[in-house]
Amino acid sequence: MNTRDWGLSTTAIHAGREHNDTRSVTTPIYQTSVFELLENAEGAEFSAATEPPRFYTRWGNPNFSEVEAVVAALEKAERALVTSSGMSAFATVFEAFLQPGDHVVAPAALYLGTEQLLRRWEARRGLRITWIRNTLDLQEWEDAIEDRTALILVETPSNPTLAITDLAGIAELGRRRGVRTLADNTFATPVFTRPVALGIDLSVSSATKYMGGHSDLVAGVIAGSDADIVACWTVAKLTGPTLDPMAAWLLHRGLKTLHLRVMRAADNAQSLAAWLLWQPQVSRVDYPGVKQHPGHAVAARQMTGGFGAMMSFELTGGLLAGQKFCEHLEIITRAVSLGGVESLIQHPASMSHLRTAPEVKARLGISDGLLRFSVGIEDDADLKADLERGFQAADALNR
Ligand SMILES: *Cc1c(COP(=O)(O)O)cnc(C)c1O
Repeated sequence: MNTRDWGLSTTAIHAGREHNDTRSVTTPIYQTSVFELLENAEGAEFSAATEPPRFYTRWGNPNFSEVEAVVAALEKAERALVTSSGMSAFATVFEAFLQPGDHVVAPAALYLGTEQLLRRWEARRGLRITWIRNTLDLQEWEDAIEDRTALILVETPSNPTLAITDLAGIAELGRRRGVRTLADNTFATPVFTRPVALGIDLSVSSATKYMGGHSDLVAGVIAGSDADIVACWTVAKLTGPTLDPMAAWLLHRGLKTLHLRVMRAADNAQSLAAWLLWQPQVSRVDYPGVKQHPGHAVAARQMTGGFGAMMSFELTGGLLAGQKFCEHLEIITRAVSLGGVESLIQHPASMSHLRTAPEVKARLGISDGLLRFSVGIEDDADLKADLERGFQAADALNR
């Protein structure tokens, strides 16, 4: 099948089809740990030219192959690998491409799990890290590169201020200086941004979020060249960040509606961001789709079809206002995570970053009144009405 010319929706629905060798319209769940061997065990190798062998599910499984075909096609990458979580995807990439004593360049405001994993490498394996403060400044990235720089890691848009990084610029820098580049594509999804098509070596996502899309599974994906994905697979086969076939099946089902879901969520986000800018209780809105955002011009160049559905906004009332706001919402649920059909809100100062030191919070751009909002696919008017309830609760504090 020539899937290259298909649009995103057709790709998401049909690209994995050749991995279903029954005639069922939906793929069965291959809930098996092991496969009958038709050849000797030597057949259980995997190279850039072949598929992962049917051998043992830690090596591969038809439900994984199906998801991998869809993700590779959406990301416009040669190949993809599905893992048990976004974090295990990062751990696999680091294990595959970093050596003790290497140097990494990464943004100062980074997903907390990825930051902690890098810091663990720093403490235990002598990894050195340069943290980038202004991700829009390509010179700051370039100046950070050293002889032993093995990886440039970017997140765009990033958490929680939706900071933008110029992916084509980073890709060019990486190629010129001989450094592998990696983009966390969780927030943008391959619907809005395809890092590999812009020249980035590896696109890694927490599939727990938009790809799965229903807050009902934990998974990760890595997309890149045949050679890089085989290198990751070689690590994964040994360390075992293996997804369950049932979860892979759910992920594939979620991927089929990825395009519809994220377009609707991004429409909601665009409309809500414009509305939030006018609310007297809001001092700042971070959304790359509004022209006030410092990364808007770069985002408009590298994101297609929309600006995603993640945003942050800051309440003038600080910590207490943030807490009250969340408590009085009826539709939007207070929870970590993002990317599901339902809207979720997070108040980092009282939730994920409750015990984070003030100077670290300042570096990450987390103020006491900051709310991170994962806009779902509910009706726009109902979301606005819910946010109004939050504003009224925050206002009541001042009376
Ligand atoms: C959630 C998340 C991760 C980690 O993924 P898990 O599936 O939770 O392991 C990594 N990066 C970003 C940007 C995320 O939002």
